[in-house]
Amino acid sequence: AKAKGESGYEIFNPEMHARAMQLLNLETDLRRAIADQAFCLRYQPIVDLASGKIIGFESLVRWQHPDRGLVSPDQFIPLAEETGLIIPLSEWIVRSACEQMSLWSRDPTLPADFTMSVNIAAASFQNPRFVHELDQALTQTQLSPSRLKLEVTESVLLENIDSVRETLAQLKQRQIEISLDDFGTGYSSLSYLKQLPIDTLKIDKSFIDSLTEDGDASLVEAIIQIANSLTMTVVAEGVETAMQRSRLQQLGCGAIQGYLISPPMDGAAAENFMRTFQPH
Ligand code: C2E
Ligand code: CA
Ligand code: CA
Ligand code: CA
Repeated sequence: AKAKGESGYEIFNPEMHARAMQLLNLETDLRRAIADQAFCLRYQPIVDLASGKIIGFESLVRWQHPDRGLVSPDQFIPLAEETGLIIPLSEWIVRSACEQMSLWSRDPTLPADFTMSVNIAAASFQNPRFVHELDQALTQTQLSPSRLKLEVTESVLLENIDSVRETLAQLKQRQIEISLDDFGTGYSSLSYLKQLPIDTLKIDKSFIDSLTEDGDASLVEAIIQIANSLTMTVVAEGVETAMQRSRLQQLGCGAIQGYLISPPMDGAAAENFMRTFQPH
């Protein structure tokens, strides 16, 4: 911990110094990684419970670090957000996801009715250039906007609600759908939810975890009822067991995502998965 010395100056212990140096190194590495485009995307399928079909993939970023191997986003997205590096990183992510989806959308041997969901950090979504850059990515990759879906967390809705509303309207014009990610973990008021053009609620894994043999399903049930009454679809994330799937089905949940279906895969594996997947 931090203590005040007799002189009144703050004294940092060696542990804190080491931690600060580590963060600084990480930031330097991250900055370089963005210049080098040292990232890759993984794709995790989302399956409709009624039809059993794949209705989309969520793209999830990884950092290909020279020493540490594939670094998970939890370990660098927060730093990218703090340092503003999230803006150029997001641009790379959006463009890469559009490129992949564009390739798939032009392959006549693949289904034509699934979407690509891309996670958008609040700072990127609130960036005034966001829609413009999205348009550019769509044009350059020749991707139909209706094949793209954006995932934002409730934190997006907490600031600057008028400009968020404007951005959402512009996306709606382009037929780009919006998912509210990690639903239930934030603070979005239900009245906002009702006013904003949000298409899908994603129930956070922490709620799905409680769907055990004798676990309490009341929160999941409540979220599904809210979504249904607002005519939004519901995706349950982090579904790992067949029992969770059948309970979600009973509760009227629309779609699921999780290790039960598949972990995130690289593009080639995701494509192969689509070709061989048997709806059930
Ligand atoms: P998220 O958007 O809630 O993504 C779901 C996370 O749960 C992913 O972790 C996914 O791999 C993991 N997951 C999926 N199914 C299961 C399951 O059945 N069991 C368990 N234990 N985990 C499962 P991942 O890929 O490590 O991503 C973590 C978070 O990092 C994401 O949470 C998202 O908030 C953020 N993130 C990932 N990619 C991006 C991105 O491209 N842009 C931004 N801004 N954030 C991203
Ligand atoms: Ca997400
Ligand atoms: Ca989520
Ligand atoms: Ca989550």
